[in-house]
Amino acid sequence: MVFVVYAFRERFRRKRTLIATIPTLSISFHIDATSGTARAARLTTPHGVVETPVFMPVGTVASVKGVSQDVLEDLGVQILLGNTYHLYLRPGVEQVRKLGGLNRFMAWPRAILTDSGGFQVFSLNELRKVTEEGVTFRSHLDGSSHFFSPESAMEAQIGLGADIMMAFDECTEFPADQERARESMELTLRWAARSKKYFEQHKEEVPWNSDETQALFGIVQGGMDAALRKESAERTVEIGFPGYAIGGLSVGEPRAVTREIVEATLRHLPAAKPRYLMGVGTPEEIVQYANAGVDMMDCVLPTRAARHGLLFTSEGKISIKQARFASDQGPLDANCGCRVCQRYSRAYLRHLYAANEVLAQVLNTIHNLSFYLDTMRSVRHSIALGNRAQLLSGEQSGVKP
Ligand SMILES: [Zn+2]
Repeated sequence: MVFVVYAFRERFRRKRTLIATIPTLSISFHIDATSGTARAARLTTPHGVVETPVFMPVGTVASVKGVSQDVLEDLGVQILLGNTYHLYLRPGVEQVRKLGGLNRFMAWPRAILTDSGGFQVFSLNELRKVTEEGVTFRSHLDGSSHFFSPESAMEAQIGLGADIMMAFDECTEFPADQERARESMELTLRWAARSKKYFEQHKEEVPWNSDETQALFGIVQGGMDAALRKESAERTVEIGFPGYAIGGLSVGEPRAVTREIVEATLRHLPAAKPRYLMGVGTPEEIVQYANAGVDMMDCVLPTRAARHGLLFTSEGKISIKQARFASDQGPLDANCGCRVCQRYSRAYLRHLYAANEVLAQVLNTIHNLSFYLDTMRSVRHSIALGNRAQLLSGEQSGVKP
């Protein structure tokens, strides 16, 4: 079915290419409702509409671990994240490009965003070497040496062909003193300008047979210094991108600091453009950030925690491995409408986990993703009603759309 829909879309797109010679915009962002600082909007991409605020599941190597694409569609996922660093190493950008780009390769007809690879180089490579030109790093797979520059990171992301790609940045380590944070921020700004220049010169090389191109977002850095964040935001906006991300957070700083820096940065990003907060967070945090005016978020937490038996529910986080669930015939979360909670008992889920069955990881991941997606649906519903969004709980389940 996915292939059929995809083939149809491709045919439609090719046909339109023949009749339309004027290139269309790569993305558009339309705000439908606001409530305080929060906004409910529609981000239209070459591969479909994304309703925001949105949580983007992480599909590191062109797969959301344990969950097939048809299930992701059923869960209502409208956009996935892919990691350029991982895909560059395996199966390789050229391979994905030859197979028609990420959408076609992974049989995913909806939107995709790729990161620039900068964060993975930072987090997976202790031996990386940063120069003005770029970053030399070693593969975590076989130790081989590689080099990413703003230009090569753009080339890789154009080859992968996601709807949204990210400028190449340096993720400033934590802690970093003011001088170091400024130096890193300045480097990210120079790399942002180089990323944009390369993208503008090469955006027609996208692997789709289409009149549309990808969109490149800029990334704000500046460590944990609110003044540097303001300067980084203003100067990144000056370079000019169709969307802006806040990077360099969730790198070990206290949660209160993350929140303070997010709020300090959001104030200096244009209201009419999508704002993407990279790498957060818990269900409580994604609601808080949506209320603060963030439109897009991603995090490995729901999928990674699920594989360790940690499940987010309307009654809080539970560990399914606990012996107290061994005879519990109730659903994982009585307020959750997902296919796992509708069908299986806590006792069975606990057994699967204890027996180390692959199905445990699959079902746990589906529930956690469903909880995050429901949380965001509820947030969008609250904003549309002009209310401040709150975390899903038993008492609030009645207002779920
Ligand atoms: Zn569920």
